[in-house]
Amino acid sequence: MLSPHFSAVEFRCRCGRCTPVLPAKILLAGLEALRAVVSRPVIITSGHRCAAYNATIKNAVPNSRHITGRAADIVIRGVPPADIAVLIKYIAPELQALPRATYTHIQVRV
Ligand SMILES: [Zn+2]
Repeated sequence: MLSPHFSAVEFRCRCGRCTPVLPAKILLAGLEALRAVVSRPVIITSGHRCAAYNATIKNAVPNSRHITGRAADIVIRGVPPADIAVLIKYIAPELQALPRATYTHIQVRV
Protein backbone atom coordinates (compact mmCIF):
# COMPACT_ATOMS: atom_id res chain seq x y z
CA MET A 1 0.00 0.00 0.00
CA LEU A 2 1.16 3.52 -0.77
CA SER A 3 -0.88 4.89 2.13
CA PRO A 4 -3.51 3.48 4.53
CA HIS A 5 -6.27 3.41 1.90
CA PHE A 6 -4.55 3.50 -1.50
CA SER A 7 -2.49 0.97 -3.41
CA ALA A 8 -0.19 1.55 -6.36
CA VAL A 9 -2.37 -0.48 -8.73
CA GLU A 10 -5.25 1.98 -8.28
CA PHE A 11 -3.13 4.73 -9.86
CA ARG A 12 -1.74 2.55 -12.65
CA CYS A 13 -2.10 3.90 -16.19
CA ARG A 14 -5.00 2.14 -17.88
CA CYS A 15 -2.90 1.33 -20.94
CA GLY A 16 -1.29 -1.38 -18.80
CA ARG A 17 2.00 -1.32 -20.72
CA CYS A 18 3.95 1.75 -19.66
CA THR A 19 6.30 2.27 -16.72
CA PRO A 20 4.30 3.05 -13.58
CA VAL A 21 4.46 6.58 -12.17
CA LEU A 22 3.36 6.79 -8.54
CA PRO A 23 1.14 9.62 -7.33
CA ALA A 24 2.80 12.68 -5.81
CA LYS A 25 2.87 12.35 -2.01
CA ILE A 26 1.04 15.65 -1.58
CA LEU A 27 -1.78 14.33 -3.81
CA LEU A 28 -1.93 11.05 -1.90
CA ALA A 29 -2.00 12.87 1.45
CA GLY A 30 -4.88 15.04 0.27
CA LEU A 31 -6.84 12.01 -0.91
CA GLU A 32 -6.32 10.34 2.48
CA ALA A 33 -7.54 13.50 4.22
CA LEU A 34 -10.60 13.55 1.96
CA ARG A 35 -11.30 9.89 2.69
CA ALA A 36 -11.06 10.62 6.41
CA VAL A 37 -13.63 13.43 6.36
CA VAL A 38 -16.17 11.58 4.23
CA SER A 39 -15.55 8.12 5.79
CA ARG A 40 -16.19 6.53 2.41
CA PRO A 41 -13.95 4.92 -0.20
CA VAL A 42 -12.37 7.29 -2.69
CA ILE A 43 -12.46 5.53 -6.06
CA ILE A 44 -9.63 6.44 -8.45
CA THR A 45 -11.14 6.39 -11.94
CA SER A 46 -7.95 7.73 -13.57
CA GLY A 47 -4.55 8.11 -11.93
CA HIS A 48 -1.30 8.12 -13.86
CA ARG A 49 -1.57 8.39 -17.65
CA CYS A 50 1.42 7.99 -19.92
CA ALA A 51 1.58 10.61 -22.67
CA ALA A 52 0.45 8.07 -25.28
CA TYR A 53 -2.60 7.01 -23.32
CA ASN A 54 -3.39 10.60 -22.34
CA ALA A 55 -3.44 11.52 -26.03
CA THR A 56 -6.24 9.00 -26.62
CA ILE A 57 -8.50 10.67 -24.05
CA LYS A 58 -11.05 13.12 -25.32
CA ASN A 59 -10.57 16.67 -24.05
CA ALA A 60 -7.38 15.77 -22.17
CA VAL A 61 -4.73 18.50 -22.39
CA PRO A 62 -1.28 17.39 -23.66
CA ASN A 63 0.48 18.64 -20.50
CA SER A 64 -2.03 17.01 -18.14
CA ARG A 65 -0.78 16.57 -14.61
CA HIS A 66 -1.97 12.96 -14.83
CA ILE A 67 1.21 12.34 -16.86
CA THR A 68 3.47 13.30 -13.97
CA GLY A 69 1.42 11.66 -11.23
CA ARG A 70 0.15 14.99 -9.98
CA ALA A 71 -3.54 14.48 -10.77
CA ALA A 72 -6.27 11.92 -10.21
CA ASP A 73 -9.92 11.67 -11.20
CA ILE A 74 -12.03 10.40 -8.35
CA VAL A 75 -15.56 9.32 -7.47
CA ILE A 76 -17.08 8.98 -4.01
CA ARG A 77 -20.45 7.24 -3.94
CA GLY A 78 -23.06 9.59 -2.47
CA VAL A 79 -20.86 12.67 -2.52
CA PRO A 80 -21.41 14.95 -5.56
CA PRO A 81 -18.37 16.45 -7.33
CA ALA A 82 -19.33 19.97 -6.21
CA ASP A 83 -19.26 18.84 -2.58
CA ILE A 84 -15.89 17.15 -3.07
CA ALA A 85 -14.51 20.42 -4.47
CA VAL A 86 -15.67 22.31 -1.37
CA LEU A 87 -14.09 19.73 0.93
CA ILE A 88 -10.77 19.78 -0.95
CA LYS A 89 -10.62 23.56 -0.75
CA TYR A 90 -11.06 23.29 3.02
CA ILE A 91 -8.86 20.32 3.93
CA ALA A 92 -6.23 20.33 1.18
CA PRO A 93 -5.78 23.85 -0.22
CA GLU A 94 -2.51 22.73 -1.82
CA LEU A 95 -4.68 20.78 -4.23
CA GLN A 96 -7.15 22.02 -6.81
CA ALA A 97 -10.43 20.21 -7.41
CA LEU A 98 -12.30 20.63 -10.68
CA PRO A 99 -15.81 19.14 -10.40
CA ARG A 100 -17.12 17.47 -13.56
CA ALA A 101 -20.50 15.87 -14.25
CA THR A 102 -19.61 12.35 -13.09
CA TYR A 103 -16.22 12.68 -11.37
CA THR A 104 -13.86 15.19 -9.81
CA HIS A 105 -10.43 15.99 -11.23
CA ILE A 106 -7.97 16.68 -8.42
CA GLN A 107 -4.50 18.04 -9.10
CA VAL A 108 -1.51 19.49 -7.33
CA ARG A 109 -1.39 23.27 -7.70
CA VAL A 110 1.65 24.66 -9.50
ZN1 LIG B 1 0.27 4.12 -20.12
